[in-house]
Amino acid sequence: MTRDIPTRLLPTSTAGSLPKPSWLAQSETLWSPWKLTGEELADGKRDALRLSLADQLDAGLDIVGDGEQTRQHFVTTFIENLVGVDFKNRATVRIRDRYDAAVPRVVGDVSRGAPVFVDDARFLRAHTDQPIKWALPGPMTMVDTLFDAHYRSREKLASEFAGILNQEAKDLAAVGVDIVQFDEPAFTVFHDEANDWGIAALERAASGLSCETAVHICYGYGIEANTTWKKTLGSEWRQYEETLPTLQRSSLDILSLERHNSRVPIELLDLARGKKLMVGAIDVATNTVETPEEVADTLRSALRFVDADKLYPSTNCGMAPLASSVARGKLAALCAGAKIVRSEISDAVGTPFASLAALRTDG
Ligand SMILES: [Zn+2]
Repeated sequence: MTRDIPTRLLPTSTAGSLPKPSWLAQSETLWSPWKLTGEELADGKRDALRLSLADQLDAGLDIVGDGEQTRQHFVTTFIENLVGVDFKNRATVRIRDRYDAAVPRVVGDVSRGAPVFVDDARFLRAHTDQPIKWALPGPMTMVDTLFDAHYRSREKLASEFAGILNQEAKDLAAVGVDIVQFDEPAFTVFHDEANDWGIAALERAASGLSCETAVHICYGYGIEANTTWKKTLGSEWRQYEETLPTLQRSSLDILSLERHNSRVPIELLDLARGKKLMVGAIDVATNTVETPEEVADTLRSALRFVDADKLYPSTNCGMAPLASSVARGKLAALCAGAKIVRSEISDAVGTPFASLAALRTDG
């Protein structure tokens, strides 16, 4: 059950997470505990998924997702469902050299006892005919979000996780997910390890899938630890420069990168030339809703380095910590901005969508 992606030029999507309803989890709080338990929680997650989907469809997004409504944390919720992990007796570790968090411990050989998100993905698939994207944590980011008391090797553990992720990704594709996205914010921190083994582990996780594959590499949610860290990065954020050449040569179909209001020099996108790029045109670290024209400006600047048929307007990262009204405003702005640029390209080409593959907008 493969679909044609994109459905039109400049297909819009989000990086993944969206705010949860206030009856399910504490508003504007990342990783908030659930407010429901048992059957009520299971039902509540499904209801939240349907509401999140409705928000995305109302805004006009082309590629939709679950808004990560059924998970508390983008990494640990997946890890907690694995065999070989003790998530009750947590250990405190430093995440991405930046902030301390209580994380699960690896205490034995890791494996996937049962599919983790496959039922949720099947539920989403049943409620929309539009292309759907599903996010999983990447192997290196998983390794960086736990305490390993068993393998004692980040590379070895990443390889084990890659095998597990590959099983999950294949199952997601089998129930109709069109794009499986792996989240690897660790790639902006551990460049050398990413090039040594992180990207290889990612390719293993993404190998042999019947759907498209994406990797999301960002500077994190708009939480204090991240904004404090960003202040230490100087006037130009050149971290992508270290990994994009390797990712450009990788088997991944789509690279998801942040851009709007970040200090990533736009010309670094040229290092990924040839790949489809999800470019962040929405800042997730501010409550200020972008204007459609601001979104359009970001997309126009990206078009100097990305062929029009390979540009996917997106958000810099997830929007889970934002107020629902702010997130909805940002979704609408993203779609309105993409619409502006879409019509500009159609005008330039003459007839809508003609010769898009040949269209080059650099220069
Ligand atoms: Zn992100």
